[in-house]
Amino acid sequence: MTHRQDYIKKMELKKKAKLDAGLLSEKHPDVVDMVMLVTYYHKGENPILLKRTINYFPTSHAYFNLDCMIKGCENGFFDLTKTVRAQIKGKKKVVKGTISCGRKECSLTPKDDAISYEINIKYSRAKKK
Ligand SMILES: [Zn+2]
Repeated sequence: MTHRQDYIKKMELKKKAKLDAGLLSEKHPDVVDMVMLVTYYHKGENPILLKRTINYFPTSHAYFNLDCMIKGCENGFFDLTKTVRAQIKGKKKVVKGTISCGRKECSLTPKDDAISYEINIKYSRAKKK
């Protein structure tokens, strides 16, 4: 398989995973707004590789699996699905933490914090009668 075909296949799988995850409004109807602040680290003099703000809306897919940004770590990922689920279940507004890359071959070892995250969630106050 050529590199391009490989890439297309990867994007298709990702698209499918997103669709399979369903919409945030379906999975978690009480969530009205969600913001994920993510800092990516790498080895180097300036350990901060990248900072990202990811916004989720009720119309967004409930997909919380982020790609690793380390060069050469092709299928690396940070799966925050369980973290987000636990946060919503506990109705917590803010959850912070760190997570290492889910791919063993990543150049960042598990003891290196590959990313740190802060997840902010707003819940609807509407109560069902
Ligand atoms: Zn990685």
